This record gives sequence, C-alpha cells and structure tokens, in this order.
Amino acid sequence: MDLALSPEDRAFQDEVRAFLRDNLTPDLRQAGARTGGVFAEFDIGMRWHRVLARRGWSATTWPREFGGPGWTATQRYIFARECTAVDAPRVFNMGVRMVGPVVMKFGTAAQKAKYLPGIAAGDIVFCQGYSEPGSGSDLASLKTRAESDGDDYVINGTKIWTTFAHHANHMFCLVRTAAGSKPQEGITFLLIDSMQTPGLTVKPIITLAGDHEVNQVFFDNVRVPKSNRIGQENDGWTVAKYLLEFERGGEAYTPNLYARLEDVRRIAREERADGGARLIETSDFAERLAATEIEIQALEMIELQVLSDLSRGRNPGAASSAMKIRGSETVQKLDGLGVEALAYYATPLEPEARTLGWNEPTVTPEYGITAVPLYLNNRAATIYAGSNEVQRNIIAKAVLGL
Ligand SMILES: Cc1cc2nc3c(=O)[nH]c(=O)nc-3n(C[C@H](O)[C@H](O)[C@H](O)COP(=O)(O)OP(=O)(O)OC[C@H]3O[C@@H](n4cnc5c(N)ncnc54)[C@H](O)[C@@H]3O)c2cc1C
Repeated sequence: MDLALSPEDRAFQDEVRAFLRDNLTPDLRQAGARTGGVFAEFDIGMRWHRVLARRGWSATTWPREFGGPGWTATQRYIFARECTAVDAPRVFNMGVRMVGPVVMKFGTAAQKAKYLPGIAAGDIVFCQGYSEPGSGSDLASLKTRAESDGDDYVINGTKIWTTFAHHANHMFCLVRTAAGSKPQEGITFLLIDSMQTPGLTVKPIITLAGDHEVNQVFFDNVRVPKSNRIGQENDGWTVAKYLLEFERGGEAYTPNLYARLEDVRRIAREERADGGARLIETSDFAERLAATEIEIQALEMIELQVLSDLSRGRNPGAASSAMKIRGSETVQKLDGLGVEALAYYATPLEPEARTLGWNEPTVTPEYGITAVPLYLNNRAATIYAGSNEVQRNIIAKAVLGL
C-alpha cells in the first residue's frame, strides 16, 4: 500500500482547497461547525449540495456517465478530509450514497433518466424506509405489505427511525409482496415519488438531544405505480443487500474523526483542570487524547487499505464491518472526552444556539456548543447502519470462521 500522495493527487488537493476557499461562505461554515447530529440542518445541507452540484461534485461516488465526477477512491478521501477540516456542512445524502448506485445497477433506462439527474442536482431527496418496529437487525422479518391492484401497489404498514422523512420528497422502501418459504423471499424494493402521497403520514420522534431527525412513517392504502419498482417483484432482498453495502462501506470515517479530535483539543486548550492548569497540559487528559488519536491513525490505515483494495476492484469484505465498529466506538470516545472537558458547561441544553444566524450569548462557550448534542446523538452510531453486535457477528463468521 502506497501512502504518499501522487503529484496528481496533490494537485487535486489544491483544487479542492481553492474551491472550498471560494465557495464555502462564512455562514455555511458556521452552520457546519454547529452541527450537533449526523447531518447539517436540512436547508443548509441542501444549499451546500447545490453549490457542489454546480461544480459537478455533489455525487462524489458516482461515475461520470451518471453525473458524478468519476473520482478515484483516493480523490474521494482527499475531498472528505478537506471538507471536514473546514467544517463544510454534512449533507443528507441517502439518494447519492444509497439509492443512486441501486438505480444505476438495477434500474431501467427510464428509471435512471427519471431519478439520477434529480438526485445529483438536489431536487430529488430520498429517505430510507427499511426498518420497522420489530424489524431492524432482523430486517427480513419486515411486515409492511404491498398488494397488487392493476398498475399499482397498495401499501399498508409502518416504517420507523426514518431519518429526515419530514424533509425528503421521495422514499425508497422495502415491502412484502408475497409470503416466501424464507423471510428474505417475497420482498420488493419500491420508490415512492412524493411524501405527500395520499395515505402517507410522517410523525416525528424527538431524540434525547431534543432534535427532530427521525420519524415514524405510516402507510394507509398508499398507491405506488408498479413502474416505480426496482428489480423484480419478490426479489427486493437482492436489491436491499446491494444497497446496504453502500450504507456500511460507502463513506470514510477518519476525516470526521480527525475533525472531532480537533474540536475536543480546542475545548481542552481552553478549559482548566482543578489545579488551574489547562486540561490539555494535564497528563491524564493529554494521554487519553493521544491514545484516541492513535486509534484514529490506526483506523486510517485500515481505511486507506480498503481504499487501495477498492481502487484495484477488490471488495473490502469484513474490513468494512471492522471500520464501522472502530469508527463508531472512537467517535463515542471523543464525545466522552469533549463532555468531560467542558465539565459544568456541558449541563445547559441550548439547541437554539446551533441554528443559523444565532448571535445571542450562550452559557456554554461557543467552542463547546455541539459537544453534548454530539455526545447524545452519537449514542446511535453503534446502532444505525447495522448495529455493532451484528457487525461483530459478520467478523466472527467471515474472518474467524466461527
Ligand atoms: C438515529 C437513527 C437513525 C436511523 N435511520 C434510519 C433510516 O433512515 N431508515 C431506516 O430504515 N432505519 C433507520 N434506523 C434504524 C436502524 O437501522 C436500526 O435501529 C438498527 O438496524 C437496529 O435495529 P433495531 O433498532 O430494531 O434494534 P434490534 O434489531 O431490535 O436490536 C436490539 C439490540 O439487539 C442486538 N442484536 C440484534 N440482533 C442481534 C444478533 N443477531 N446478535 C447479537 N446482537 C443482536 C442489537 O445489536 C441491539 O443492541 C435508524 C436508527 C437510528 C438509531
């Protein structure tokens, strides 16, 4: 594995830096820095998405023929590092990351033309309707039914934990169209073209940090044209599994971890320990911060190895499970250090201080305003995109042969 950047990659890095300098406006940057969850505030994220789209950089993982930049895995990594280093807003991108590659592989020519340009432009925003109450890790047990009625399916049931369903205008979902001999049989993958479709209701779920990110979605005789089916009827599990590869392995972890490390360092430079010394200068705290940095560096090596494999056309296999486990556990460690460093200043909950344009004084200093929301929201990092226990099962089977 060659870790040094080639001259071409260095030139690319300069190009990205120049683009960010010219296009990431101070308000976008401030909003990015104040993000207390996985994604930036929806409107901010979409503003940034459109800026990227104008440059042809909104769908970074897509090939050129479908409107992507056709970047190598290394270029994508460089882009992610540069964006997180300057707090570019984290865009809600399930369309780009998940359903886009599915449409490219399984969609008809008409479906590709209908969805891909709109996803890249930011006009079509998909949310993910996979999980149901009782069907999360055991996804194949899902019960939401779709019955055939002429040219339509009629959907009844419910989906849960649907991130940003209240902002999205489209949904991709898994529905049961037949009872198979195995739970994986009889599932179909559908696209819903409007979250305003009659019979579809979105109800908020407010998280521990006081944020509205996830929802429960109810279907009461929701009609969806059969032409919106991706792949064959009853063969949706094949499509669903392909999509999960992109959900779990599509994005680099370490750029965000390095950015979070810097956030915690900043808090530790400002805050003082009991004896009056800056926290960053106390051996106990500095040692734990250094140990976490080493973990990130180790993870980066795995990540670069995976990128190197991908660029040679090899599937990373169980390495993506290892990355998911280490990435999510390390971010939780950083969250814990940030909250510990803030001490009493971690107590006030001031969600309004994270909204764009807020300029009133806050109890918690500006540099710590996202520490607690991130701590609370990232509890979910070991659950979503396949829980860490499930990832450990994958490693046990695929690597250890248990
Ligand atoms: C913030 C957040 C956002 C989400 N966004 C979306 C979204 O947009 N769309 C969507 O479809 N879903 C979404 N999800 C749902 C997510 O995919 C599920 O929560 C996840 O798959 C776990 O399923 P579950 O919640 O039903 O828990 P369960 O599957 O019931 O698991 C409960 C516990 O049992 C453990 N467990 C389960 N099975 C095994 C096993 N075989 N071996 C060992 N341990 C096991 C799990 O690890 C977990 O600790 C989101 C979840 C969260 C928290």
